[in-house]
Amino acid sequence: MTATEISTSFATAHRPLVIEFHEGDRTMADLLGGKGAGLAEMTRLGLPVPPGFIVTTEACRAYLAAGGDPEGLWDQVDAALADLEERSGLVLGDPARPLLVSVRSGAKFSMPGMMETVLDIGLNDAVVAALAERGESHFAWDSYRRLAQMYGRTVLGVEGSRFDDLLTRARAHAGVGTDAELDDAHLQQLAADFRALIVAETGQELPQDAGTQLREAVRAVFRSWNGERARLYRAHEGIPDDLGTAVNVVQMVFGNRGDRSGSGVCFTRDPVTGAPGAFGDYLPDAQGEDVVSGVRSPMDLSELHRRDPEIHAELSRHLRSLETHYRDLCDVEFTVERGRLWILQTRLGKRSPAAAFRIAVELADEGVIDLDEALTRVNGHQLTTLLHPSFQAAAAAPLAGGLAASPGAAVGQLVFDAATAMEWAGLGRSVVLARPETSPDDFGGMLAAKAVITSRGGLTSHAAVVARGLGKTCVTGIEKMVVDPAARTATFHGSRVLTEGTVVSVDGSTGELFEGSREIQASVVATAIQETSAGGPVGRPEDPTARGVLRLLEQADKRRTMGVRANAETPEEARTARRYGAEGIGLCRTEHMLMGPRRQLVERVVTDDDAAGALAEIEALALDEFTTLLTVMEGLPVVVRLLDPPLHEFLPDLVDLSVSAAVAAAKGEPEDPVAEQRLAAVRRLHEANPMLGLRGVRLLLVHPEVAQVQVRALAEAVSRLLEEGRNVRPELMLPLVAEVAELEAARGRVETVIAEVGARHGRTLDIPIGVMIELPRAALTADALAAHADFFSFGTNDLTQTTWGISRDDAEASFLAAYREQGIISADPFQTLDEVGVGALVRLAVEKGRATRSGLELGVCGEHAGDPTSIGFFAKAGIDYLSCSPPRVPVARLEAGRQAVLRSAGALPTSDTR
Ligand code: ADP
Ligand code: MG
Ligand code: MG
Repeated sequence: MTATEISTSFATAHRPLVIEFHEGDRTMADLLGGKGAGLAEMTRLGLPVPPGFIVTTEACRAYLAAGGDPEGLWDQVDAALADLEERSGLVLGDPARPLLVSVRSGAKFSMPGMMETVLDIGLNDAVVAALAERGESHFAWDSYRRLAQMYGRTVLGVEGSRFDDLLTRARAHAGVGTDAELDDAHLQQLAADFRALIVAETGQELPQDAGTQLREAVRAVFRSWNGERARLYRAHEGIPDDLGTAVNVVQMVFGNRGDRSGSGVCFTRDPVTGAPGAFGDYLPDAQGEDVVSGVRSPMDLSELHRRDPEIHAELSRHLRSLETHYRDLCDVEFTVERGRLWILQTRLGKRSPAAAFRIAVELADEGVIDLDEALTRVNGHQLTTLLHPSFQAAAAAPLAGGLAASPGAAVGQLVFDAATAMEWAGLGRSVVLARPETSPDDFGGMLAAKAVITSRGGLTSHAAVVARGLGKTCVTGIEKMVVDPAARTATFHGSRVLTEGTVVSVDGSTGELFEGSREIQASVVATAIQETSAGGPVGRPEDPTARGVLRLLEQADKRRTMGVRANAETPEEARTARRYGAEGIGLCRTEHMLMGPRRQLVERVVTDDDAAGALAEIEALALDEFTTLLTVMEGLPVVVRLLDPPLHEFLPDLVDLSVSAAVAAAKGEPEDPVAEQRLAAVRRLHEANPMLGLRGVRLLLVHPEVAQVQVRALAEAVSRLLEEGRNVRPELMLPLVAEVAELEAARGRVETVIAEVGARHGRTLDIPIGVMIELPRAALTADALAAHADFFSFGTNDLTQTTWGISRDDAEASFLAAYREQGIISADPFQTLDEVGVGALVRLAVEKGRATRSGLELGVCGEHAGDPTSIGFFAKAGIDYLSCSPPRVPVARLEAGRQAVLRSAGALPTSDTR
């Protein structure tokens, strides 16, 4: 053997492929998956967990890489199984003492319902017969048909709906409403029908050998890691594709064993509002998947209290110890088998954005965590959704009501399947996805929809869990709604029929559904933030979520190292920005004052039509606007960017002008010298690619007049305000610089004007002059630029356009959407900064700029400055301040603070923050 072979075989021999529950703990989620680590930890804590073992993610990775079983896997499984048989006193496949197990997927990061699980492994004809003989006929046949159904679908690939159809038929035939009411004979027939279906579809029998069942189920769970919905979910959640899933083999306990049995899912606090106290769903005489899948509408946890107060008390005790132990909201799956409680799963609970803030701060109030940790329990994406508006008070009565599964207000057109939802959303329509219940296959449609509504399912159904994670408005369990996806209709109260495309309004906070479009109002959280920053009483709004947000924003402000400014032009925007806590204006786009009818002022300058008069007007306007803006922002920096857009945006359309000239000529009208001069000028200035043409600093150098009066107006406004004793802090910024000589020339002109104005007022004006980094060449030559710039501001919108060579305005419709569909790109580079490409240029410019001038101030003023994911990158890159649109300011504050805490703790966000 070579040394490599020896070390490889050593590694293989010692790589754990199987771990028993009592051997693991919560820190081992990489190897055991989140579910496995939770089961191990609960076993360690002494909670009533059925015994079992975990086939590790290592085994899964090896299986997927090799396309077959890793060496030694089944030996290790057999050993663990023997141990399990000893602990339980039961034997897999033995009719006298049958051990049944579940085979459950569970990756490091929770992917609810995205992979496979098979229950009731170990049943076969002999075992079922023996159980029936012992008077457990109903339970035996119910479990057998479940095994056939799950095994058939998951392991053998039979379409799941085929089984559902047979079930629906069986219920109709028996004249009952739920599966639980089917009697022994019906269940026996159903098991036979399911098995016949499997044979017809696959040519294979449901294996009678329990060992084969177990091995095939484990392999199927491995493979489900690469199933389509699992991949889609990972892409959306940013979960790496190479982690693999663990497989949990757990002794079965049975909630479907009569009246004193049942299954439920519950949370240690309310995951929708964050209110303290246990919260959940319970279904008597049911297995767990009946609750999760929403096939039966579950009852409230109080039902368990009514039926079995002792079990309820025991459950509450375990919930408390789990929350204390994990120091966060937990959810658990539990089953009661003939009056005995079993805990089958725990994990950190998914929560709505509103609940996230409330829970984090209340846990801090209770002394369970500190405020820094509380800050890491929330994120900017959640705050973004909380700043969204809600509905105005209702006027009309709701069409129907259901469970408020995920808060928010949404208006859109009804669609009844995921494909249509995606297609319509692609066309820019707002859609509301209505389903009888959702399954993981609907994930794409849920992503595309503004809201999701279902007629069945509880607050822990698939739809509810997924929607809360996405921050999507969702109402489940609308019992008075019957959705018929085939007919594309939803029928309410048996009579009111709405067809596809009808506009509805969904209130995820009350669980109500309305026909037509409702008025939407500002969010409570947004209002609370504005009132506080405006000097109102600090931090005690009525609403517990708003209170949580204020406390955590305060903490974020203490911790963050990046400043937060706003992109604002008008006094109104500037005031909003201040109220949201902006520490200045990072970008004032001066072109705003020259848009609309004022466009002609620029046109007159470049076509030399009373240019002097036009310039005087521009100067007067600018003086006025700068004065107001600087006054509103007194005490804070204001970065004014000189005129940036392509000249063509200020000129009349060449085609229009040519056509009217031709028409005039055809009518024999006398020649108009003014019109002719205009046409000639426009023709001279016409460009095929104006976005890559005469704009930014180029315009300032070729037609310096406009920029000069802008600078003069700014210097004049500053001088006057300083004379009044005002504390104003202006800065000037040059757009679209690519070359140091451009910067030197432009800077020279600007400084001359500032000096002239200063001299006139008998003072030296201190106005820093900076440069935007928004072209690859600027980033590549940032060392040279830094020698002539007082600050950099990254214009990441243009930098993305020019780095990728794509136009933001056209790319989405023309090819980005198609790229996403084909899986070529997953994120929109205009929304979330492309770290690999554009980010490399940012890092390079930071490094080169600071090499020349160590104290160089660095800002970001593109849309990305308000995107939570991109903010993480900017923090790492060493940016000094973010500048985003005013409503995004709180998001940037929070996220910058959170990033600072995470970085100082050396910690990365854990699975709980996903
Ligand atoms: P998911 O990750 O989709 O929740 P699970 O592996 O948790 O899948 O299993 C699906 C359902 O089956 C859950 O409701 C779970 O509680 C239930 N279940 C899993 N294992 C057992 C078991 N050993 N005994 C009883 N019910 C089980
Ligand atoms: Mg589960
Ligand atoms: Mg730009």
